[in-house]
Amino acid sequence: MGLPCSRSELKPPAGGELAKLVDGKLVVPDNPVVVYIEGDGIGPEVVRSARAVIDAAIEKAYGGTRRIVWWEMAAGEKAQRECGELLPEATLEAIKMTRLALKGPLTTPVGSGFRSLNVAIRQALDLYANIRPVRFYGQPAPHKYADKVNFVIFRENTEDVYAGIEWPWDSSEASKLREFLKRELGVTVREDAGLGLKPISKFATQRLMRRAIEWAIRNGNRRITLMHKGNIMKYTEGAFMQWGYEVAVNEFREYIVTEQELWEKYNGELPEGKILVNDRIADNMLQQIITRPWDYEIIVAPNLNGDYISDAANALVGGIGMAAGMNMGDGIAVAEPVHGTAPKYAGKNVINPTAEILSATLLIGEFMGWREVVGLVENAIRRAIADKKVTYDLARHMPGVEPLKTTEYTEALIEYIKES
Ligand code: NAD
Repeated sequence: MGLPCSRSELKPPAGGELAKLVDGKLVVPDNPVVVYIEGDGIGPEVVRSARAVIDAAIEKAYGGTRRIVWWEMAAGEKAQRECGELLPEATLEAIKMTRLALKGPLTTPVGSGFRSLNVAIRQALDLYANIRPVRFYGQPAPHKYADKVNFVIFRENTEDVYAGIEWPWDSSEASKLREFLKRELGVTVREDAGLGLKPISKFATQRLMRRAIEWAIRNGNRRITLMHKGNIMKYTEGAFMQWGYEVAVNEFREYIVTEQELWEKYNGELPEGKILVNDRIADNMLQQIITRPWDYEIIVAPNLNGDYISDAANALVGGIGMAAGMNMGDGIAVAEPVHGTAPKYAGKNVINPTAEILSATLLIGEFMGWREVVGLVENAIRRAIADKKVTYDLARHMPGVEPLKTTEYTEALIEYIKES
């Protein structure tokens, strides 16, 4: 049977119930319906692997009292084939209905109405926080201190220069804006300059910061760092920093100590049970994660800084096959790996599904709150790497190690979960 294309065809699978938002809190039944989108290229292989590993971890943790009822929706090439469009109405509606989705990577269509399908999904569902944990699991990594890397990056997902408010230098819009700037504000911009706007709002900054602080409280983190370039861009990035501190001090007072208070009141020693909120200028931050990774845990950044820091941070621990992500809104989340569709490896059963597996773990363990799943999956990944049971991307940095197929690696993880 084909996948649903229009809203009227949507019928959640039997045996599952929907998660609900009650007084701002996500209430998850023991049999939640979770949407999955296979995606393009290597997507179907990694999503299949992630579902199998997550199901095994849930079975192990809850012995049949809890389970996911998976519900497939189409997007990308599969949707184009089945529904004649890349992002059917039914897919977005199903995610709104279930609040929970696991997504494979999607090809960015060239020459269609979308800038990017992934961005379209984030915007349609107002998934304003992009969360990227960066951890070391024992994989071959280029950095001397890779084992000290343990960050979670909270990247703002809706604003900044990514808002798409920009015009080519020779457009009538750019020309009007230049005239306006000169006439009304006395600012002169070169005639041959393309122009873009960088909106950063208090609203978007503060909701992101709230999620980051809540995460730190839940996970026992001790440090939250606001990354910004406020020394130069005072009213966008500088304001981001100020608004971030404002949330920390006004809404989470009993949990946090600011860097200023740390020195004024506590002689530089963070008191037991408190979370330090500090800030770093973006260029320094990019340097600091390399020279002193142990000083950072949660990093909160505007969209562009967040993009740079997450790639830089992932490089410290060996790259893209392990890099997980989740896009989160209020009571709704879509988990997806950082990597793309890697078309040249599609269908070859060789790629590393770990990034997708860890993304699914974020959704099920962190966002849904089935936290036992996190330890089971992460330990299985650690054991597999320690036993040199890895896919080609890691094996090529481990002399003498024969790579496993994607499916063999998946089976190995499931075995470790069963044994644990
Ligand atoms: P990519 O991440 O797909 O691939 C780059 C290279 O990284 C691959 O050739 C491969 O060597 C390696 N790689 C990626 N994932 C891997 C894995 N799981 N295991 C082992 N090695 C892996 O990036 P790209 O080539 O720039 O993009 C290809 C397509 O994916 C484009 O259409 C792009 O727009 C899209 N894309 C989608 C998303 C998303 O859906 N969120 C993200 C990034 C790129």
